[in-house]
This record gives sequence, structure tokens and C-alpha cells, in this order.
Amino acid sequence: QAEASFIGLDLGTSGCRAIAIDAGGQEIARARVGLPAPERPAPGHIEQDPELWWAAAQQVLGALAQDLRHHAPNAICVDATSASVLLTDPSGQALGRALMYSDQSATDAARRVAEVAPLDSPARGPSAGLAKLIALADRLKPGAPALALHQADWISGRLCGRFGWSDWNNALKTGFDPIQLGWPDWVLGLLPREIQLPRVQAPGTAVGFLDPAVAARLGLPNRILVLAGTTDSTAAAIAAGAARPGDAVTSLGSTLVIKVVADRPITASRYGVYSHRFADGWILGGASNSGGAVLRQYFTEAEIRALSRLMDPSTETGLDYYPLPAAGERFPRHDPSLQPLLEPRPQSPEEFLQGLFEGIAAIEAEGYAKLAELGAPMPTRIATLGGGSANAAWTRIRSQRLGVPVITAPDQEAAYGAAKLALKATTDLA
Ligand code: ADP
Repeated sequence: QAEASFIGLDLGTSGCRAIAIDAGGQEIARARVGLPAPERPAPGHIEQDPELWWAAAQQVLGALAQDLRHHAPNAICVDATSASVLLTDPSGQALGRALMYSDQSATDAARRVAEVAPLDSPARGPSAGLAKLIALADRLKPGAPALALHQADWISGRLCGRFGWSDWNNALKTGFDPIQLGWPDWVLGLLPREIQLPRVQAPGTAVGFLDPAVAARLGLPNRILVLAGTTDSTAAAIAAGAARPGDAVTSLGSTLVIKVVADRPITASRYGVYSHRFADGWILGGASNSGGAVLRQYFTEAEIRALSRLMDPSTETGLDYYPLPAAGERFPRHDPSLQPLLEPRPQSPEEFLQGLFEGIAAIEAEGYAKLAELGAPMPTRIATLGGGSANAAWTRIRSQRLGVPVITAPDQEAAYGAAKLALKATTDLA
């Protein structure tokens, strides 16, 4: 008798990963392939042929299927970067290359968005999906019908053979209103009428079954449910255990990103704070420009590890840094000209590094206090993701500063979070 399993498929910024878990949430298989670097046809333009995503997704699922012979997958859920978008024809055939999350070329479209979008809309700016879809629409010959899709929508569409739908999370920065659950008129007015925005579902909603031809090709059984997905950062927060109000997740990667679960949404676009809806709650997030990138300006990762062993985290340096990689901060302080504060510089490198750790921890604490000031709950515990999460000295410094338990998230992969979403959604259906 085959055991149940649930698949999460993640299209990250550098590769594609799939993780399968059993009904108890235990990982049973994983596979990964890299994605080629995107093309840069002009300065600020970062594009990719979406067929490369689909090739990677199939390769990863095919490899996973080999390890799942004793498990019958019940459902699959895709997470990806919501800021990578494309247009397709009504049958799902891509119309040209996708604009990638890092593309900064849609500045003219972003100006058109700014003229009509509410001041606190997460869909403002050239990185948001909305400006990119408008820019892609400008390239089409007028009158041709097209679907506007996010990366996850298109991959899930290929899996089940149905296109034209999305989820609350991927659609947020394209202007979807997660409270009213609809596309506002001002968004509809920005795109030509023949370009259709997706029908937007709750993450985890069953949308179809795996296309039998795809299943046969990949060596997977028929009757696998394809579920509406989520964004990569929401999936990573779910992987880290974000579930109930007060659960917090700090990502210590190149930048410092904090998220906390709340029972109502908060938007403060001035600070880049917005809310993703999931299950019965909301995940609120804010991103500082501070983070691991500052450490890398002064130290290699090997030096960080070696120096961390020399420091005494329980004795504060008294250095009062505000570490930034360059001038300008968005959150928790909104100040485009804020200067990095990295003086005075002590003789000893471990003391300097400790000062940087303390400074970033202080920004993290200020971030959670800012979210609370905006109406979020204070964190009751903080799970940590990313390159800095495994550093014991830094974790110690942070828990002293933050006053709540700080742990390294045991599961950090977005693909694991997507698999967890598939498990929960399928269990809720039954
Ligand atoms: P991203 O995906 O955002 O680039 P990662 O999650 O891979 O980032 O984290 C990379 C960052 O983590 C680097 O900028 C580096 O400064 C930091 N980092 C790596 N190893 C350590 C360590 N042992 N202690 C603290 N920070 C670290």
C-alpha cells in the first residue's frame, strides 16, 4: 500500500527545487537543478525564456518521481518569485521572454501605475508585477488576446493544463486586493482590455489534476491535485513554522527581512511594509537594506566563522552601529539618505564584527517594534533563515537584544513550505 505524500516545487532565484513530505510532514525526497543566468538585453533589462523554468521543473519532478515509488503523491504546490512575470496566449504559450524579479526597466509603466494607484498600494514601483506586465503589454501588437501570469501561475498551469488563474500572494504586487478579494478598477484600467488578469484563488485551493501526459512523461501517477501556490518568501516563512499570530521569521541573508504573523493586515508603503494573506491570517513583512551584505564588505565567510568563535557575545561592545552597505534605508527607518554608521572602528576584527552583529540585531529589534507600532503583534518567538541563521554567537546576541527565544529554523527551504501548504490544504479538503 503506497503512502501519501505532498510535493512542493520552488522556482528560486538561482535554481529549481522539489521536496516531497509524508502525511506527518517528514521529508522523504528532494531534488534540485540550477537555472541558467537570465539575459540582459539592455541595462536594467533582465529577462528569461520561461521554457527554461518549465524544463527545470520537469527535470526536478522527474528526479523526485524516482524516489517516490513507494509513495503516491496526493498534491503538488508551486512557489516562485511573484515579481517574475510573463504574457501568454490563451492556450498558455509564452509570448516572448519573461521579465525577471530583478528587472528594473519598467520605469515608464511604473509612472503610469503611480498616477492611479492608492498611495499605500504594494503594486507601486518598477519591480512590482503590475508595472512589468504593463511594459510587456506595450510590446504586443494591439488586439492580440493574452493572459498575464506570474512565474508560479505559469508553471502550475503547465502542470495541470489550465491557465488564467493565480493565488492571493503572487497577485499582491500586481494590485490584487486581498481584503476585497478582487482586482480593483484602477488596475483593470491600466492594461488593455484584451490582456486578461488571472482569477485569483486562496493559496492551496485545488485547481486541477496533473496533466496525464505530463504525469506519464515524468513517471508520476495520475490524479495528483495541482493547488494554487504562493510566493517564495511566503513559502520560506511557512517552512520556518510561521502559523499563528506572534510567530516571527527573520531572514539573515544579504538583506535583513523580518516577518510576523498577524490576524489582520497592515500596509505602510512608505516603509515597504505589506501583508500576505494565508489560511486565516496574514504575514506582515518589512525589509531593511542592512544585512549580510555589509558583513561581506569587510569579511569573507570563513573569517566570519573564525572571528565569531573568538567573541564573547554576553559582553556588549558598546559600539552603536547602523550597518548599511550604502547610503539609504527603507525600513525600519524611512530615510533615502541615511548614512551607514560604522564608527568608531576598534583595533580588533572580532570586536568590529561583534559591533556589526549588534548593530544589525538592533535594527531587527527596531523593525519588530516598528511593525508593532503599525499594529502587528510583538514576536513571541523568532525562527531564523538564511546565511546568518547558523551563527551561534550572533543568535546569542540577537536573543539578548530581542528578549524572545531565537532559533535557527530547522526547515528553511521554500519548497518545504510549499509541500507543507499542500499537506495542510489537502488535509483540510478531506
Ligand atoms: P542571499 O540568498 O540573501 O544572498 P544567504 O541566505 O545565502 O543570502 O546569506 C548570505 C549572507 O549570509 C552573506 O551576506 C553573509 O554575510 C552571511 N553569512 C554567511 N555565513 C555566515 C556566518 N557563518 N555567520 C554570519 N553570517 C553569515
